[in-house]
Amino acid sequence: MKTYEDIRAKAEKEIARLEQCIKDVKKNYTYDFKCPYCNEVSKFRVFTANVGRIGRIYCSTKCRVYAFQEKNGDSRFLRKEINKRKEERNKKKDLIINMRKDGFKLREIAKQFGVTHQYVSQIIVEAKKNDS
Ligand SMILES: [Zn+2]
Repeated sequence: MKTYEDIRAKAEKEIARLEQCIKDVKKNYTYDFKCPYCNEVSKFRVFTANVGRIGRIYCSTKCRVYAFQEKNGDSRFLRKEINKRKEERNKKKDLIINMRKDGFKLREIAKQFGVTHQYVSQIIVEAKKNDS
């Protein structure tokens, strides 16, 4: 004879097993995602609360924001833009240092690059500090 308690316990055990099974599927089913912005491939779960049914569009909030800014022409804060400006600045500094080594006067160098001679002397002083 099957009692209420027996069948109830069996049913609850089965439900617990299935719930664990769902948890495992949600946790373990991952896919490779290539971000259209940074081009990096990373693994993501198929089931995540914040992307819904459409799935992921960018790998991170950062990439989403950068892509949005780029689309809207606001690229001031993009990492690659910042790096580009930094590179240009460093190139300019190298040119200034080389001109100084070639014996040009601060004022001549400043005129050439459209900067103040204080800026030029600051760069020279920094370069000397880094050398020693
Ligand atoms: Zn990305």
